[in-house]
Amino acid sequence: MVVVTARTRDVAIPCPDCGTVTAKVHGYHQRMVKDVPVDDRQVVVRLRVRRLVCPALGCRRQTFREQIPGLLQRHQRRTVRLVRQISHVAQELCGRAAARLAGLLAVPVSRSTALRRLRCLPLPRLEIPRVIGVDDFALRRRQRYATIIIDAETGRRVEVLPGRDAATLESWLREHPGVEVVCRDGSATYAEAVRRALPDAVQVSDDGTCGAISVTGSCSRSARTPDAGPPSTRPVLAAFTSRPRANAGTRSTISSVKASVCSTAPAASAWP
Ligand SMILES: [Zn+2]
Repeated sequence: MVVVTARTRDVAIPCPDCGTVTAKVHGYHQRMVKDVPVDDRQVVVRLRVRRLVCPALGCRRQTFREQIPGLLQRHQRRTVRLVRQISHVAQELCGRAAARLAGLLAVPVSRSTALRRLRCLPLPRLEIPRVIGVDDFALRRRQRYATIIIDAETGRRVEVLPGRDAATLESWLREHPGVEVVCRDGSATYAEAVRRALPDAVQVSDDGTCGAISVTGSCSRSARTPDAGPPSTRPVLAAFTSRPRANAGTRSTISSVKASVCSTAPAASAWP
């Protein structure tokens, strides 16, 4: 382990309440914080920070502890850059796997810490795709199911909904307008949900036999070749007829979703 002793500069800083600049020292504090590893060894910084006196009369904050923005956040025991590293690992691997890899990189963290850092990350802005694929999958076979929604053109996961009933999918579609084409299996439940929420949307379904495809919606008709559909659905239909199962792309995404859902057990357990 590498121990670094450091102290802050003797410069004047503003009071967080009234903004009066001061360098009058009331006392000192020691902070022990972990930093990014060096040469596969953990680094601990023993940092001395000042407690300063606010000279302004009437300011309710008589003394205050100085902060080091960009390097260390209030009450944190890890530097900002170390927290960033842990967050990136957790973002890719979730709890246990992130903890194992971080340990190999000389950043020992528990899986709870990895998940906590993951939950602190801001959620990416959800962009609703024009063409979506919808399918169900079992979290626990015959007991608990969920619905996955993907971008049918890129394969990107868009959302995972608890349950596989029509009302859940219908409410999500109503809250996220912009979908024009819905690719699904032969499920009448999903068909009804799409019909109620998006009456003008095109539904592309697979009946599970010989790659047969039907297209319903604003352009009600059936098709067995990619060229038979409207221009907007041709790429989707081509993808369907090239494989025996229409939602093969969706199902390939499901395994990764199940892994992430199972690793975040508290969120999954809240589902019915
Ligand atoms: Zn003040």
